[in-house]
This record gives sequence, structure tokens and C-alpha cells, in this order.
Amino acid sequence: MIQEAIARYLQKQQQTFLSPKAVLFDMDGVLYDSMRFHARAWYETATRHQLTSTPELFYLYEGRTGESTINELYQKTFQRDATDEEKKSIYEEKAVLFNQYNDEKAMQGAAEVLEAARASGLQTLVVTGSGQHSLINKLEHTYPGYFKREKMVTAFDVKLGKPHPEPYLMGLEKAGVKAHEAFVVENAPMGVQAGVAAGIFTIAVNTGPLDDRVLLDAGANLLYPSMTALAEDWENLMSAIKNS
Ligand code: CA
Repeated sequence: MIQEAIARYLQKQQQTFLSPKAVLFDMDGVLYDSMRFHARAWYETATRHQLTSTPELFYLYEGRTGESTINELYQKTFQRDATDEEKKSIYEEKAVLFNQYNDEKAMQGAAEVLEAARASGLQTLVVTGSGQHSLINKLEHTYPGYFKREKMVTAFDVKLGKPHPEPYLMGLEKAGVKAHEAFVVENAPMGVQAGVAAGIFTIAVNTGPLDDRVLLDAGANLLYPSMTALAEDWENLMSAIKNS
């Protein structure tokens, strides 16, 4: 199964081999078990402003910048763009609620994936659409020694955000590697699309309520039910790559 996934990746991206040197990790829903708090904060904020949504919608929008999420809600509800003032104040409101709810809990199995990646000699980087200082600053505490601030890609670095490939292309640049020399680890459909559009072998971990199909349709090269499952399969993955 892994061999087939690698073969399909190489054919689709017109690469001749996969030679991993870096792993680009998404943050929310991958390194932190924080998506449920984002979804709750978004849903409650949207409802206060009479914006049409459901809690699940925010798992589909995940990876977008806050501004583009708010704009989508205005388009959906009022068929117009949100003003800059609306974007700013609603994002702030959502961030306050998120910080109130968030317990900053690490994603189960993520530490094991990081350890396995390092043992395989791979660099580890974070590529997130998040602009939450609270979690970004927490990374070094939760995962000491794995993420250098100057190599992080966050909402403060990108203009376009996922599903555009820009964040992951920036991640490749910061890692100093090419697309066939990296993996992306993502939990969100738009994040998967961004990784695939950047030409990178993209591993989905389905840590939320969406159907697996949504992540596979977004183009995921491999899919695991959890970070723990990815950690357990890591050796298989690396040896499949060596033998491909
Ligand atoms: Ca995510």
C-alpha cells in the first residue's frame, strides 16, 4: 500500500525518487489537540454575529487564514465581503474565546512521530495558518529542540494561506530542501491540498470528525487515523521509500 502510494506520488508529481530530508508539520490538529476549541470558538463567534455556520464547517475551512474564514462566512450569509473592521474585530473575538477554551494539550503520538523523524535524520518544521501567539510560543515548551522559530511558517509569514501552496513552498525554502525531499503531515483537507499543490508527499492524519474520503479527495498520498498510528508505521514508511 505504501509502495503504491509512493509510485502514484512520483508519477503525479513527475519526480523520479523520494529522498526525505525534512518533515513539514501542520500545527492545530497535528501537534496540538486544539481543533475542537477552534471549531467551538469560531462557531460561537459566528453565531453571535448572525453568520450562518455549523461547528463542522470549521473543520472544512481549517487551514485558511482567519480573515479568509470570516470573509467566507460573510459571503455565505450576506453575499458580500467582510470589511477590514469586521475581519479584525471578529478575529479578535474568536481568538479570545479560543484562548479561554484551549487546554494546550499536545496531540497524542506527535512526540513519537517527531522522535522517529529525528532518528531518521530528518529536519522538523512547522507550517501553520495560525496566528495564535499562545500556541506558537508554546511549541518549544511542548516539543523542546524540534522547532526553530526562524524556520517556522505562520500566519505572520504568508499572504495567501492554505489551500494555496505558498505556506508549504515557504516551508521548503526555510528547510533548504526540494519538494521530493520532504513530507507534509496534515489533518485538514485544505492543508492537504496545499501540500499536494506544493508537490510534496502529503500524509494525512484524520484526528477530527471529517470522513476519511474528504482527506483522500483532497489528494492525500497516505492516510492514518492518528499520529500514534503514523508513529507506529514510521519504520515501514522509511523502508518502503528506501526500496522504491
Ligand atoms: Ca490543522
